[in-house]
Amino acid sequence: MSATIIDGKLISQQIKDELKEKTAHLKEKGVEVTLAVILVGEDPASMVYVRNKKRACEYIGYKSLSYELPASTTQEELLKLIDELNNKDDVDGILVQMPLPGHINEKAVIDAISPSKDVDGFHPMNVGALCIGESGFVSCTPAGVIQLLKRGCEGKIQIAGKECVIVGRSNIVGKPMSLLMLRENATVTVAHSKTENLEEVCKRADILIAAVGKAGMITKNHVKEGAVVIDVGINRNSEGKLCGDVDFAEVKEIAGAITPVPGGVGPMTIAMLMNNCYEAALMHHDMK
Ligand code: NDP
Repeated sequence: MSATIIDGKLISQQIKDELKEKTAHLKEKGVEVTLAVILVGEDPASMVYVRNKKRACEYIGYKSLSYELPASTTQEELLKLIDELNNKDDVDGILVQMPLPGHINEKAVIDAISPSKDVDGFHPMNVGALCIGESGFVSCTPAGVIQLLKRGCEGKIQIAGKECVIVGRSNIVGKPMSLLMLRENATVTVAHSKTENLEEVCKRADILIAAVGKAGMITKNHVKEGAVVIDVGINRNSEGKLCGDVDFAEVKEIAGAITPVPGGVGPMTIAMLMNNCYEAALMHHDMK
């Protein structure tokens, strides 16, 4: 039997529509959610991401402030702009599109953003808060995966008590993903490039989350029958077509549910960024 497809496009649209409605109520109370978006240089993929984020703001009813800086911008200049935005009462969230040009230290930039405006959830204070179970901004992609699990399959996916295997341990996906699944009471295993017997480890999973960046590396040999398979990977296959880390065609024949690429995790990342902006505005206006 073929797996149920978890539709990230549909679920992300639901989240954006919910935010749109809540934002209209905030506006009636005189609060305008404002996101400052900083892009340094002209990387084509980054330009597309920034455009999509600004479009989402427009759709929901947020104000977006755009700072498009030349690739020659120095680290000092960028840090100065972040400092100004940190101190502006009418800015709720600050997003610096990564990657940055090589001469700018990304960690210094992440550390410079006020944790209360860090809507990407990358600041060490927010990562630490997640780790010890306090509230804070959560990295958007793993937060989006949790929403897919909670809202997909008509809310029937059980997380608590289940075996979850995450393949990948990056700071922006794998590690926060493992902490979120732990918070949801899953039994969590994190696999990585040094993991032995990856197929066997993955086969233990009731919920398998692939965040590696290698086209089609998760095959049917990695998947237990009926498992929920979430594919975070965004790759190009040999024909230049967008694809995930999971061999979708063969895995969908044995999984219970699966996310496609494109149209799975991808759209959720922007929806969760928008959710973090809304939460930031509530916090700044003492409405939480
Ligand atoms: P990174 O390159 O930072 O991390 C990749 C992880 O995969 C590492 O932990 C690495 O292990 C592990 N890995 C590499 N090879 C293997 C292997 N053969 N077996 C097991 N584990 C392996 O990538 P990201 O976390 O940033 O991104 C992962 C994927 O998700 C990419 O395709 C990226 O494009 C996509 N992505 C998608 C987003 C979305 O919105 N849908 C957002 C962010 C990312 P080790 O630590 O040992 O090196």
